[in-house]
Amino acid sequence: MGKNLKAISVQQAARAIIRLLPMISDNNLVRLTHLGEWLSHDPEMIRGVQKVRTLLETPGHPAKGLFKRVLGQLSAEGRIKLFETLFNGVLFQGASLRDDWEKKLGFRPPCIMILSPTLHCNLRCRGCYTLGYGTKPELPLEVTDRLLTECEELGIHFITILGGEPLVYPHLYTLLERHPSLFFQVYTNGTLMTPEKARRFAELGNVVIVVSIEGDEAETDAWRGKGTYGKIMKAFEVLQQARVLFGTSATVTSQNAEMVSSFPFIDRMITLGSMAQMYFLYIPVNGQADFSLMVTPEQRDLLRRQVLAVRDHRPIFVIDFWNDGPYVDGCIAGARRYFHVNAQGDVEPCVYTHIAVDNIKEKTLKEALDSPLFRHIRACQPHNPNHLRPCMIIDNPQVMREVIEKTGARFTHPGAEEIFTVHPEKMDAYAAQWGILADRIWREEYSEGRADAEYFEPRAGASIHHVTMR
Ligand code: SF4
Repeated sequence: MGKNLKAISVQQAARAIIRLLPMISDNNLVRLTHLGEWLSHDPEMIRGVQKVRTLLETPGHPAKGLFKRVLGQLSAEGRIKLFETLFNGVLFQGASLRDDWEKKLGFRPPCIMILSPTLHCNLRCRGCYTLGYGTKPELPLEVTDRLLTECEELGIHFITILGGEPLVYPHLYTLLERHPSLFFQVYTNGTLMTPEKARRFAELGNVVIVVSIEGDEAETDAWRGKGTYGKIMKAFEVLQQARVLFGTSATVTSQNAEMVSSFPFIDRMITLGSMAQMYFLYIPVNGQADFSLMVTPEQRDLLRRQVLAVRDHRPIFVIDFWNDGPYVDGCIAGARRYFHVNAQGDVEPCVYTHIAVDNIKEKTLKEALDSPLFRHIRACQPHNPNHLRPCMIIDNPQVMREVIEKTGARFTHPGAEEIFTVHPEKMDAYAAQWGILADRIWREEYSEGRADAEYFEPRAGASIHHVTMR
């Protein structure tokens, strides 16, 4: 099909999708996926859309319920903005731009940037990965604005905002307003959310809010400070009333792994209006390492099995950043799929790898993404043939040590070197322990004849049946 004809078809498909969005019926959801296929020529994207269609057509699968929940939460205008930014912008137009840049640059720009514009925060949570940065740097608007413009040009249309606390960054709304074609995911501790702020997010429409919560009141307040849980409950109410799309996120530690991976916890989050649950393992990278907080191998596997079960039984989108390694062929750092710009402007391979060779105040984004550090990391990926052991930091710490030595990367805050220089043997021991269990799971559930599969799924029925819906 000629390029112009395809462009016309894409416009027609986009218009047809917008017409269907107000009418949420089972048939229309399936029709949307057929139209979605018209919007892309990327085989990976098309496979993803087809996979969604299969789930929508599977009797009793919760995918349908999730779509209906998302569309039901948004106003008519909110649905259109979500489609235009997240689906059309990120998945299709952004992918097309990245295709073009891949030919020019010799590497494919990632699809996601994580930006921490400020380290100021009204809380001081235990184990926070930012504690080591000491003073509280903040990026000026001209830097963050320019960075987002460069993202637009490169097709990086999905921007995650972390902190510090993004709601104390004075230019947050300005950035969202000035870059309406980008889709933002804003992580917040929730305690500063007000009806007015929620209303502004709803009006902007190019944003999903993710509120951090570590379990019930006891777990959450122990991690984030007394009274936090109550404020988070208010934030949920306010976001729901304003018809803002939101999800929840938990730092998983040895102390809350069972709680946050349980069905009662997930059910509560769904009742409170969460559309997505994100799991991040506690990683001791802030220069104040507390190894006792790291999940045990058994807890990490419990989380994996619970997540698989939740995906099959509950209408909520779930991401488990380490255990989902098999779906993305391992580590995604170094701009393979994403990278992090911290509040000093350092361009870090990922949120947890506190090393850099470039600062965005001195380099263009294109230059930073093509740095010797990022190139070296991409050349080393995957760091392990077992994608359940994806990580350079906790699963393959020798890789991180080698990356630092070979590229001369500097640590981005005092104490960031601790796990490499003071405690390397503890990191090696942790990696080895998880390795024993992970290798067994990989053999038994994932790798039989499918080790090279591009789109990876655990064998049907594997492990899931052992999970109790607690
Ligand atoms: S280094 Fe670890 S934490 Fe960072 S992207 Fe890779 S797997 Fe994730």
